[in-house]
Amino acid sequence: MKIGVLAIQGDVREHLRHTQRAGAEAVEVRLPRDLDGTDGLIIPGGESTTIGMLMEEYGLIEAIRNRARSSAYPIYGTCAGLILMAKNVIGKSPARLGLMDIDASRNAYGRQIASFEVPLPVPALGGTPFPAVFIRAPKIQRMGDGVMALASHDGEVVMAEQGPYLVSSFHPEMSEDIRIHQYFLEKVEKLARVRQ
Ligand code: GLN
Repeated sequence: MKIGVLAIQGDVREHLRHTQRAGAEAVEVRLPRDLDGTDGLIIPGGESTTIGMLMEEYGLIEAIRNRARSSAYPIYGTCAGLILMAKNVIGKSPARLGLMDIDASRNAYGRQIASFEVPLPVPALGGTPFPAVFIRAPKIQRMGDGVMALASHDGEVVMAEQGPYLVSSFHPEMSEDIRIHQYFLEKVEKLARVRQ
């Protein structure tokens, strides 16, 4: 398996490392050609306005959308990546992929100072709760019929999936726990098998 990590902003190195530790090859994606040969993509957190603008400028929005249109292309969007995956964004809306049937609101947990870490139970991962780090995190305000909740915190869904797409409001790369990257890789593998 070869996974691309969008390398515009954010914890690119940590996502590459977690993906490798979870057992896949990981490559940086800066330009559309970097997507060649990848079986899936991770979009790190950062500032969604900046990431979206640069994705647009480099032709990545179109390239990723085309890929997603022609076959199931797994994408995991974390934090700002969740915003870039959302069909609708409440408030200031950045250029984005809009591939997942969710509405997101930005900075919905407050400012930087309101960042926090919680032990988050994620039933699909089994075992102990996942150490989830929220940094100026978005909230999912609406989920379409095909969207499944994977974890909630304080009554809000903070991790969800729809077909090949996975999103989380929090950063999974900030601890040593690689179970979410493993979960994403399993999804990628399953979809690759279906395609064969
Ligand atoms: N607040 C950022 C945004 O709206 C997301 C923060 C993050 O990715 N940690 O884009």
